[in-house]
Amino acid sequence: MKEVKEFQTESKELLNLMINSIYSNKEIFLRELISNASDAIDKYRYKALTSGGAIPLNDFEIELKVDKKKRTITIIDNGIGMSKNDLIENLGTIAKSGSKDFASRLKEAKEKQDLNIIGQFGVGFYSAFMVASKVEVLTKTIDDEAYLFVSDGQDSYSIENAKKDDVGTEITIYLKKSSKEEDYDGFLEEYRIKNLVKKYSDYIRYPIKMLTKKKEQEKDADGKPNEGKFIESEIMETLNSMIPLWKKNKKEVTNEELDNFYKDKFYDYQDPFTSLFVRVDGKITYDALLFVPSHTPYNLYSDSYEKGLQLYSKGIFIKDKCAELVPDYLKFVKGLVDSADFSLNISREMLQQSPILKKISENVEKKILDKLKEIKKTDFEKYTGFWKNFGEHLKYGLYSTYGSKKDLLQDLLIFRSVNNDDKFISLSDYKDKMVKDQKYIYYASGENLDAIKLLPQMEKFKKEGIDVLMLDQKIDEFALLMLHDYDKVEFKSISDETATELSKEDKEKVEKLATDNKRLLDTLKESLSEEVSDVVISTKLVDAPVCFSTKAGLSLEMEKTLNEQPGMEESVKAQKVLELNPEHPLFKAFSAIQNNDDLVKAYASILYEEAMLLEGRDITNKQVFVQKINELLVKALN
Ligand code: ADP
Repeated sequence: MKEVKEFQTESKELLNLMINSIYSNKEIFLRELISNASDAIDKYRYKALTSGGAIPLNDFEIELKVDKKKRTITIIDNGIGMSKNDLIENLGTIAKSGSKDFASRLKEAKEKQDLNIIGQFGVGFYSAFMVASKVEVLTKTIDDEAYLFVSDGQDSYSIENAKKDDVGTEITIYLKKSSKEEDYDGFLEEYRIKNLVKKYSDYIRYPIKMLTKKKEQEKDADGKPNEGKFIESEIMETLNSMIPLWKKNKKEVTNEELDNFYKDKFYDYQDPFTSLFVRVDGKITYDALLFVPSHTPYNLYSDSYEKGLQLYSKGIFIKDKCAELVPDYLKFVKGLVDSADFSLNISREMLQQSPILKKISENVEKKILDKLKEIKKTDFEKYTGFWKNFGEHLKYGLYSTYGSKKDLLQDLLIFRSVNNDDKFISLSDYKDKMVKDQKYIYYASGENLDAIKLLPQMEKFKKEGIDVLMLDQKIDEFALLMLHDYDKVEFKSISDETATELSKEDKEKVEKLATDNKRLLDTLKESLSEEVSDVVISTKLVDAPVCFSTKAGLSLEMEKTLNEQPGMEESVKAQKVLELNPEHPLFKAFSAIQNNDDLVKAYASILYEEAMLLEGRDITNKQVFVQKINELLVKALN
């Protein structure tokens, strides 16, 4: 009986997008189907191995058949097969692994016109529709009958009972008609298929076989070649080397091969940012292929993201996401490690405690960081691309390990800086460009670059030509706190109380101002005692009337971040100091009436709120602020 079913709405939308836009590279359909066939054989093999002899082990293979007349390509495997239910679940629903997420991602993708997002979902089988007008799947499992699934990849598919004796799956692709723009007939050519297998599927562990034509010179009875006469024969040829990529001679593996391997194995549609082929022979021996993606995986920040590398022993797969192989802060790294030092049936507990694993992990970490350092050195522009995606993680690495990874990580840090036109600068470059007598590496933190640049404390640094690193991520200051110094130069926030060094002369000037205005400062301090810990004469300001500084290394941004943490509920308080610009007319006006305590008290809060505004913060008490301003306006206008 033939049943016709509709694809789900989301599946339909995805199909359309995918067929028409995602992969400009249609040829990858073959890699996807071969990869599925290989997975299916893995599953069968595992089932047979664990069946205690009840299920036979076959000669596993994948066969490709091309029919030029019918214009079809068939991929045949003797893997696990699919039951009727499997067909509905696996092929009737696209991207089932992330389906809940999927609807929202799809919406987002459409809104942003970013079709690439969709490429991050497993859509392997469906890639067949990029080249096919119809796909037939004939399949049989051990315990079910055979079924035929047919679809044109438009709205619906059908499933019916079918005849097939052996367990496994045969997927037949009916190629679309070639047009001026698009050639599909090329896929029917033997050399093309051979090339595609070599390019994308060479390492597949099972033989990928195809009947290929062979032309031989005809020979006469004496064994002499018969001029111009050939014998054509057909032979079953294995197209792939079956050697895992990481077991090949490192020199013979091209970057393109690594890139293709990455995309296939780790379901990415983009080439990696960088690939590493690591071969270590020593106390421990291992091979590794490591990849840094060129974009943030869509679920990197969700709980569903599992970090880790695949673990193999002597080419045999042990575990998929072995978390012990990479530190948390490198969770975006993908890849695999193959070490003969593990036994195949190592248990989870043993893995976690394995000293070999720990050694490998440390080694892998170092290799990745070294590679990143090299890229930073040779191609800073490219490195910036990496940093935008994953820089936050490296800073997290510094912070979460309490600075113990300082030596490993400090030279990878880059920050945007004021003097560098907002572009990134490394700490060593910053240090090289420090002005004479500059004692600290200065930074300023805030919501975003614009807010940071508008900080009143910035004026003076600009005037003196001192560069300031701009920290706009929450983790930044915490990371620098752990770092403490770079090459013996300490970090200092421009808002810190002790940010500027004063000459003896200036110091005396400030002290005199403070004495002359003692009454003003005392009254302000008293009326703002809830808000600030001190009110002082500023040496940081040029044009702005007021600003805050903080004590003891806890800045206002850090205060904000810490208080946002669950359970903290405003429990962290930075020590704010209100600084007054003695050159500003506002200060001079206050100074002139400093003996009138009531008047000073009446407008103290305005000074405080002004400092809040200049920090890029909200006013603390809006009603009072409006009321005071109105009082002043009424006075001024009358
Ligand atoms: P993915 O491979 O990313 O899971 P696919 O769309 O390629 O997504 O395949 C969906 C599912 O269909 C697979 O997970 C597998 O269960 C099943 N499947 C696909 N091809 C085969 C095959 N040749 N043999 C058995 N099952 C298959």
